[in-house]
Amino acid sequence: MRAVQYVEVGKAPVVNDVPVPEPGPGQILLKVTAAGVCHSDIAVMSWPADRFPYRLPLTLGHEGAGTVAAVGDGVTAVSAGESVLVYGPWGCGVCRACARGMENYCERAEALGIFPPGLGAPGALADYVLIDDQRHLVPIGDLDPVQTVPLTDAGLTPYHAIKRAQRHLYPGATAVVIGVGGLGHVAVQLLRAMTGATVVALDVRQESLDLALKVGAHHALPSDGDAPGAVRDLTGGEGADAVFDFVGAQPTVDLAGKAAAKDASVTIVGIGGGALPVGFGALPYGTTVSTTYWGGRSELIELIDLARQGAVGVHVERYGLEQGPEVYERMHAGRIQGRAVAVP
Ligand code: NAD
Ligand code: ZN
Ligand code: ZN
Repeated sequence: MRAVQYVEVGKAPVVNDVPVPEPGPGQILLKVTAAGVCHSDIAVMSWPADRFPYRLPLTLGHEGAGTVAAVGDGVTAVSAGESVLVYGPWGCGVCRACARGMENYCERAEALGIFPPGLGAPGALADYVLIDDQRHLVPIGDLDPVQTVPLTDAGLTPYHAIKRAQRHLYPGATAVVIGVGGLGHVAVQLLRAMTGATVVALDVRQESLDLALKVGAHHALPSDGDAPGAVRDLTGGEGADAVFDFVGAQPTVDLAGKAAAKDASVTIVGIGGGALPVGFGALPYGTTVSTTYWGGRSELIELIDLARQGAVGVHVERYGLEQGPEVYERMHAGRIQGRAVAVP
């Protein structure tokens, strides 16, 4: 089968021919119907060899959808031909975090050598992908896998971040979304669907600002040194009640801190390497700063239900599997709008 693989640190990914895996006890083999491409892979592929945490070659793709092709002994919850999404942040399944469905915060995954598909385990940018456990599958019935697959990360990650910040998102509040790409353009829609907040989108690309307005942002403004002042102007001088940074670089985390109101929440989701100093007086009084990682299993189920109601629609750019390497080039160059999805 074909697989888009990162083979050597510092080299561009390539399409390789690899054996189709066979499901062992408890495992499920999916025939991939769609795989989304996330900017985090660009970060992964920039890590140096001496600190690279995964075995190579690594089949990329941590947003996966497929139909059940074969099941191992003991798999009873899904059957052949069923259309499913893959919950990616695999945990141990038994620790306290996993018991709550928050496998993204599993206490033991690293120690046990459990990695998400595409981020350590073989990923979904391939003709087939092996899933470790049936609890990591969510049936989607007749939903279109190409439109739905980005919900597994580009949707789930902002959904989780927004739920954590709900206390700040009362009707009439102001939410700022920095970076309106794969994650950010879903975040805008989720904020509109889940809260009564006014949504201000910030980006450095005009196409992303256009997309923000199209998917429901009330305001879309350049992400630059004037942005904190612009946010204050829109909020009677107070600042935003919740800021979500989907870039996470130094200029954007600085912006996030400056755009926040008193008692606001700042969530840094992007992994751009920026850091925000938290100390008395460094930020408006009462402001909470947190990072988040992916989302919970029950949250993905909730999000799919929300999508079924038509509350979120991902802007998808469709590619063939063979174009995987080209998609990463385009993403690196800032030439993807919304989410790129590869279809084998
Ligand atoms: P993307 O490439 O689809 O979108 C990035 C967007 O940010 C683009 O619209 C780009 O124009 C914009 N941007 C770039 N620099 C900017 C700046 N200085 N100010 C404002 N906007 C700017 O990326 P994505 O796949 O949506 O991922 C977004 C970030 O989230 C990445 O850093 C990714 O690694 C990270 N991520 C984190 C998690 C998590 O669990 N924490 C999960 C998925 C992705
Ligand atoms: Zn991702
Ligand atoms: Zn666990």
